[in-house]
Amino acid sequence: MLRVAVVGSGPSGCYTAQSLVQLGCDVRVDVLDRLPCPYGLVRYGVAPDHERIKSLQDTLRTVLEHERVRFLGGVRVGPGGVPTARLRELYHAVVYCVGAAADRRLGIPGEDLPGSWSATEFVSWYSAHPDAVDDGFLRGARSAVVIGVGNVAVDVARMLVRGVAELSGTDMPQAALTTLGAGQVADVHMVGRRGPSQARFTTKELRELGTLPGAAVVVEPAELELDPGYLDPSGLPGPQRRNVEALRGWAGRPAAPAARRIRPRFFLRPVELTADGAGRVGAARFERTAPDGRGGVTGTGRYVEIAAQLVLRSVGYRGVALEGLPFDAVSGTVPHRAGRVVREGAASPGEYVAGWIKRGPTGVIGTNRPCAKETVTSLLADAGALTGRELPADPLAALRAEGAEPVEWAGWQAIERAEAELGVSLGRRVVKLPDWEALLAAARTAGP
Ligand code: NAP
Repeated sequence: MLRVAVVGSGPSGCYTAQSLVQLGCDVRVDVLDRLPCPYGLVRYGVAPDHERIKSLQDTLRTVLEHERVRFLGGVRVGPGGVPTARLRELYHAVVYCVGAAADRRLGIPGEDLPGSWSATEFVSWYSAHPDAVDDGFLRGARSAVVIGVGNVAVDVARMLVRGVAELSGTDMPQAALTTLGAGQVADVHMVGRRGPSQARFTTKELRELGTLPGAAVVVEPAELELDPGYLDPSGLPGPQRRNVEALRGWAGRPAAPAARRIRPRFFLRPVELTADGAGRVGAARFERTAPDGRGGVTGTGRYVEIAAQLVLRSVGYRGVALEGLPFDAVSGTVPHRAGRVVREGAASPGEYVAGWIKRGPTGVIGTNRPCAKETVTSLLADAGALTGRELPADPLAALRAEGAEPVEWAGWQAIERAEAELGVSLGRRVVKLPDWEALLAAARTAGP
């Protein structure tokens, strides 16, 4: 029998477990997660109003409920938890599916002023991540700047203009619902350093911005027209052409009057965030850029300032080094060959990666399926050499001896019940528990 630990229960971890039980005959899989709750970014990253994508949890659930798969939440791997070397002793193979846990930095003055946050901090807060801090995100904000034009930027821009009526049907925590519902942000500037034909958002997500009640999308045609691909989209690849067509649609007709406006902006490179009199962010300063003809941009020496009491930096995620594993700091990934971790130029048997820590923070959730399958194919090809080693009877006792207090599936189900009950008590549907204490207390009601 092959015993495998998958570290991380997000989409890449679940798809890895799924491939292992589908492709391997006699395989047992423990899916470990630092949090007591499974599903990673599907629970803590997918926007609460994107119910269809959220429903992927049902697919991932069937994986974690498979008879040869076991979910063990609340198990930290690495410093302060179970050392990676110990994990290797407990399992024939370990697959790290730990995602990209940090944010890219802008590296500009004022980046850390109060009122400037990474989009991830904001997303974590309204998604009830237990590590999130309620920083009074919307305090006094009438104008917001979102830096970056990827799908996360679109998500946070949309959440800023949605009203309480649209959000109360989501599972967002009550405090975030109250704050967002009372928000006074009238203008959200979503700013790209390159042109509309190089934006990273997908057209479906972009178009959705034009359907939000009480909000209008306002574009400045003269700014968009700096992009040759915008003026003549016929030569662009399909996804970029469709983005440009959506933006051209908004540019071609006057925006309906609306209480809230989303303003996609382009060719503006952030150079500084400046403070107001109280030491909070008051404006974002950008250099106007121009296309360089090779898909990049050059500075023009002209500057534009946008007043903003809230700045969300949405410039992508970054992988974090895991103790005991090699790491490429430039790409933020673990070096690998077809999913096998590479140490000093050679594939290291028994250690694997899948998902964002393998290929970087790109692609949609489904991209993780083939990625996981490739890794599992490598692992199963190595199985003969891996299973020769005797393992302790059940890793659970060994994990407990390392100080872990695993939350098993029954514990997670108790959390789900508590969230359903909270929803009923608030006159809403399911409402997520937002802190460690509440999550662990709910898990404990399942018994030992
Ligand atoms: P992303 O797609 O990589 O977009 C990052 C954005 O930040 C780009 O516009 C990039 O511009 C910009 N940027 C990077 N460094 C910058 C800098 N120093 N100054 C100014 N701008 C900078 O990242 P993401 O939005 O975080 O999304 C991550 C992944 O999750 C993507 O694959 C995304 O599609 C996926 N996702 C999907 C959904 C969905 O399907 N609904 C929702 C959320 C996320 P350049 O292009 O010029 O580098």
